[in-house]
Amino acid sequence: LKLRAVVVGIPGVGKTTVVDKAVSSLEGGKLVSFGTVMLEEAKRRKWVKSRDQLRGMTVVRQRELQTLAARKIAGMRDSIVIVDTHLFIRTKEGFWPGLPYDVVRAMRPTHLVLVEASPREIASRRAGDAARYRDVVTHQGLEEELALARSYLAVSSTLSGAPMLIVANAEGKSDKAASVVVEALRSARP
Ligand code: ATP
Ligand code: AMP
Ligand code: MG
Repeated sequence: LKLRAVVVGIPGVGKTTVVDKAVSSLEGGKLVSFGTVMLEEAKRRKWVKSRDQLRGMTVVRQRELQTLAARKIAGMRDSIVIVDTHLFIRTKEGFWPGLPYDVVRAMRPTHLVLVEASPREIASRRAGDAARYRDVVTHQGLEEELALARSYLAVSSTLSGAPMLIVANAEGKSDKAASVVVEALRSARP
């Protein structure tokens, strides 16, 4: 049985931290950052220089890169693929889906994992990460993003037929969050 876990969550919640830890305890696991795949092509086209510039492009351009990335990831044949990605993107044109119908169908996830944390934790993680340019959003704005994430998650679950797992990434507890992901994937194999 091939496992394809799509791990999502709002910016700065800790997806990359959690999946990096999870993949190291999964034999045959391969990690892929959807944003990195998009960025490689965007750089080749000289559209942007860094990952946080992707969401500033027109939706038409982002969509083109998104479709290419989905196709590339869909072709990966590893026994366990963990995709680090987003349910929606805050663009200048409005919230835009990270997993529209064709993208989620192409990637054929067996599991959907939503990483969550409290608005306070997310605000401090966004502010504290000097390596990234993350949008500054109010406490209420973060609550809205968290609620929106659950809505988009349910849609992706229905479109793909994959179960949705919600994992809390509490402060200082990313190891625990990673082990919840690992346990869920292990449960898929009798
Ligand atoms: P993006 O969507 O922008 O890629 P992300 O969800 O991948 O964000 P990370 O880069 O993994 O988020 O984490 C954001 C910041 O929060 C990092 O500085 C990371 O070290 C920190 N962080 C992640 N998880 C925790 C945790 N459980 N406790 C404390 N800090 C954490
Ligand atoms: P990340 O490092 O996960 O934040 O990814 C970098 C950027 O890639 C994100 O901020 C988005 O602009 C873009 N990105 C990642 N996943 C998707 C997706 N599924 N659809 C569209 N854009 C995405
Ligand atoms: Mg990340």
